[in-house]
Amino acid sequence: RLQIENLSRRYDGRLVVDDISLAVMPGQVTCLLGPSGCGKSTTLRMIAGVETQDSGKVLVDGRVICDGSARVPPEQRNIGLMFQDFALFPHLNVAGNVAFGLTGPRAETDARVAELLERVGLGRYGASYPHELSGGEQQRVALARALAPRPRIMLMDEPFSGLDNRLRDGIRDETLDILREEDAAVLLVTHEPDEAMRMADDIALMRGGRIVQQGAPYNVYNAPVDRDAVAFFSDIN
Ligand code: ATP
Ligand code: MG
Repeated sequence: RLQIENLSRRYDGRLVVDDISLAVMPGQVTCLLGPSGCGKSTTLRMIAGVETQDSGKVLVDGRVICDGSARVPPEQRNIGLMFQDFALFPHLNVAGNVAFGLTGPRAETDARVAELLERVGLGRYGASYPHELSGGEQQRVALARALAPRPRIMLMDEPFSGLDNRLRDGIRDETLDILREEDAAVLLVTHEPDEAMRMADDIALMRGGRIVQQGAPYNVYNAPVDRDAVAFFSDIN
């Protein structure tokens, strides 16, 4: 499980993440939802460890991975990442991309790669190269790659925004199924209310670096905390 406690970050004296706390259980999807610039990506980057917080802490399965004194390096955090601009390695084939973060006996890693490619519907594409795949297929390879080391936590930053509408719904649903099977705790960033409504078990609505409302999608949608939240959700299609 992922726990974030009182995370804050300033840039140039401006508070862009302001005292964020939340918890995500295994098998659950929490959406950080909010308008552009509200601090969503900065929050994810601090959890991933590619950005340092000014204060607060992050725990994975009860273990502190960063606070004022301790700091576990990103690659040792047992966190999977899927970012919109997190491109596949062009010089590695699909199987090579998925195997990239894996260690251990070759037979085991090969089996894990085959299992995941099968699961994302790309069982026969192991030898293909990224440029030979469609955007949706590349996205599925990225998902398989992120899940390969069995991360306890998955951080996803607008992972579907590069896909066309028709493709997106299907991939969202498939991704949810796979994440649930893997039992990861998922923190998904989006600025699209309909994506949060579709995917989240829990929505944390952000504005100006703060969480202004949190709860089940149905409750957040039906009982918006203020006029700005009403306006934000009215964009839903
Ligand atoms: P979007 O939906 O557009 O991706 P976001 O919610 O992910 O937005 P962040 O990327 O977290 O927003 O940025 C929050 C604020 O912090 C923005 O005003 C941004 O300009 C600022 N910011 C982010 N990274 C830096 C940086 N490295 N240096 C200075 N300011 C930054
Ligand atoms: Mg962002």
